[in-house]
Amino acid sequence: MRTLLLFLVTEFAIMSSALSSEKPFSFKDTPGKLPKEAVPTDYSVRIVPDIDKLTFAGTETVKLDVRSRVRQLVLNALEIKIEAASVDGQELPASAIKIDEKNELLALALPSELATGEHALNLRFRGKINEQGQGLFYMRYQEQGSGARKTMLGSQFEATDARRFFPCWDEPVFRACFQLTAVVPENWLAVSNMPIESEKKIAGGKEVRFAATPPMSSYLNVFVAGELDFIESRSGPTQLRVITTKGKAEMGRYALEATAQILKYYNDYFGVAYPLPKLDQIAMPGGFGGAMENWGGITYYESKLLFDPKSSSAETKQDIYEVLAHEMAHQWFGDLVTMAWWDNLWLNEGFASWMGSKCTAHFNPQWEVWLRREFPRDPTRRVGIAKEAAMEGDARSTTHPIQQPVATETEANSAFDDITYKKGQSFLRMLESFLGEDVFREGIRRYMAAHMYSNTTTADLWNALSKTSGKPIAEIAAGWTEQPGFPIVRVKREQDGSVSLTQERFTVNFKNAPPLEWRIPLTYAVVGETPATLLMTRKSDNIRNIPPSRALKLNVNGAGNYRVEYDQPSWKLLLGALKNLNVEDRVNLLSDTWALVQANRAPISLFFELVEKLPVSTELAEREQIIHVLDFINRLLSDSSEQEKFQRYARSLLRPTFDAVGWETKPGEQVAAATNLRASLITTLGNLDDPEVVANCRERFKAFLANPDSLAPDLRPAVFSVVGRYADEATWNQLHQLGLKTTSIEEKQNYYDALAGAMDPKLARKTLSIALTDELPTSRAVFLVSRVARESGHPDITWDFAKANMKALLAKADALGANTYAPGLFTFFSDDSRAEKLRAYAKNSLPVASAPQVTKAVDEIQFRAELKKRLAPQLNAWIDIKINRG
Ligand SMILES: [Zn+2]
Repeated sequence: MRTLLLFLVTEFAIMSSALSSEKPFSFKDTPGKLPKEAVPTDYSVRIVPDIDKLTFAGTETVKLDVRSRVRQLVLNALEIKIEAASVDGQELPASAIKIDEKNELLALALPSELATGEHALNLRFRGKINEQGQGLFYMRYQEQGSGARKTMLGSQFEATDARRFFPCWDEPVFRACFQLTAVVPENWLAVSNMPIESEKKIAGGKEVRFAATPPMSSYLNVFVAGELDFIESRSGPTQLRVITTKGKAEMGRYALEATAQILKYYNDYFGVAYPLPKLDQIAMPGGFGGAMENWGGITYYESKLLFDPKSSSAETKQDIYEVLAHEMAHQWFGDLVTMAWWDNLWLNEGFASWMGSKCTAHFNPQWEVWLRREFPRDPTRRVGIAKEAAMEGDARSTTHPIQQPVATETEANSAFDDITYKKGQSFLRMLESFLGEDVFREGIRRYMAAHMYSNTTTADLWNALSKTSGKPIAEIAAGWTEQPGFPIVRVKREQDGSVSLTQERFTVNFKNAPPLEWRIPLTYAVVGETPATLLMTRKSDNIRNIPPSRALKLNVNGAGNYRVEYDQPSWKLLLGALKNLNVEDRVNLLSDTWALVQANRAPISLFFELVEKLPVSTELAEREQIIHVLDFINRLLSDSSEQEKFQRYARSLLRPTFDAVGWETKPGEQVAAATNLRASLITTLGNLDDPEVVANCRERFKAFLANPDSLAPDLRPAVFSVVGRYADEATWNQLHQLGLKTTSIEEKQNYYDALAGAMDPKLARKTLSIALTDELPTSRAVFLVSRVARESGHPDITWDFAKANMKALLAKADALGANTYAPGLFTFFSDDSRAEKLRAYAKNSLPVASAPQVTKAVDEIQFRAELKKRLAPQLNAWIDIKINRG
């Protein structure tokens, strides 16, 4: 802890004097706990699981390269019992084996100094099979068709859980070749990073030996086994498979075809072909919620990979493609080239998010992936474009730089947040649009070629991009990756006809924020003319030769990670030119204006004036931006006297769009966009208590019960959610029965999501109690509680339930659960007194490591409370004006 504090102090000193202090990768200077004198080169691991006892027995041989003489070996192990250890064939006494549980270390004292050169370490050990996605874990599921209860095994090692599977140098910089052997029942299929090399029958099952991997980081290992099926194809030299539980393989068809398409794109983009002989996409019916880029064997929560044309929605299809594209980008960015330490996690995640969206948009322009605001339908979703979500978090006092020091395992796990993924992605997009696509790609190819099978820091990426672009990328980038926050650029028309620009830090609910400056790769255009660029390197700058009567739009297409505030004359000109702006720019104006309201830089009337002046349209991304704000305000006003009046106004804004889109698919419509918009409108109008929409949803649900084919899969989540929201007990039971019966993870989720929205307090309690059962996979069961807090409008009932059952709930959560879960449930409150309650709870019941999450939740509660107070009278006044005029 002391070293960490020192590190923070020096880091701050460096930051305030000169940014861009990071050095290129060097093995010996890479942070971490493990000494670097003895380095593993090859592992050979044999695992024998005992499914009944939920334990496993293991042995391993690790070839070591000893670079300077050592008296002890230090590596990682967690919840593993070491039964025997020997070095170069010489058995160590039990007293020489020390486990340090707190630091997750295994230290082996050697009888004599180990000379430099090659040595072999042998270990025999025992570990446990976990209930949640941590290390080796089991999943129980209902088999497709038979409905029989089955069990399978899977693994999840990132960030620091490979050490639960076998003792290892579990820091990303220790690349080594891993060769796994496992014993499984004879009717099981076993999958790992590499193809099976040999298989033989032995007592109690079969022994499966996999080929050794190329040098890689330990967290990228994978082991999955069970009664599995697969479908396969080839792409050049690469075998492609989608692996599922029995009876579901055909639902992997869409993913298999997308995999081939994406692989070809990346082979070309990176300039280095996918290096492993096979790529498996593995569907897991539980254990964890997202996806994990294990090299050659990517694991997915089942509904992130499987698509059933008969019952899956368009949104699921899009989600699958985006997740595939993200995880496959990691096969290069993350796996072939790996960040040296977790402080550079953004290199993996920011890049994969950017690359995945770029690839998705390339093949599926109709999805508008760069434009759409992510809907929080899925709390576990991390990939996908969500520049807005990242900017909202980055404006707060609780934000942090993209690159931040990481000292402990907890900090490594906490690094997986919106800033790492989405701000990283957003910054790369801004940089690409500034350098140009071709120059940027050349830089990436150069980086890949120089660093494959090795590790890197951010400095290595900037060096490669600087060489191809001739621009000082590290200098531009430093402000964005090494300091928190982002700027707002204020635009002012001067008397002399020039336009002056001033930058300052943009903040929300953050008084006395330290002022910061950025090098901003600005873009701007006189509406209707060709865009231009300006690298803004100072606090103020100006643009000349803008005709005073013409509208000027900054941040062309919204590709930049900054906000813009226009003075009155500029804003008036823009409002007059709305019909000449493309949808990207209109979306950007909407999101910036809403941000100004949140930041208390503008009244809500500025936003609604813009909304009302926009030309009539059914543009998905534009309408979703509006829907998002209406939905947010509606939830904020929940239980207040202003809500009904606001709902009436909000419906009047959305109804014309919904009347144009209608309930049914129309010939000639842009199917994907119209479908998404239709579903969003139904859900939101339902939440806004639109009587016609609610009645219609009920009718459709009734027809669905009689004949499921009567309701299009795309509309099901929306219709169920409206029906669930206003459900009585009988309807709740019908939805519940449907959820219990289906073996499709996706359909199941739709029904339980609908239950979570029930506004009747008695039903909300009923839904909450499901989280304690095994009706849902563990990772989903815990999120049901957050969903009730958000959707039912009863965060109070939810918190009482969670507090009473915290232990049972956390047993189902993953590594992060203990720190984030309870604070997360408080973020749905907008009442100041709750902040105190959370602080008190944290003090008595939460680990110290949860402090950042507690601070974040307190900030969110205070922000919502303040905004609610501020918006209520502004909304009243605005709506009264509308009524009087109308
Ligand atoms: Zn990722």
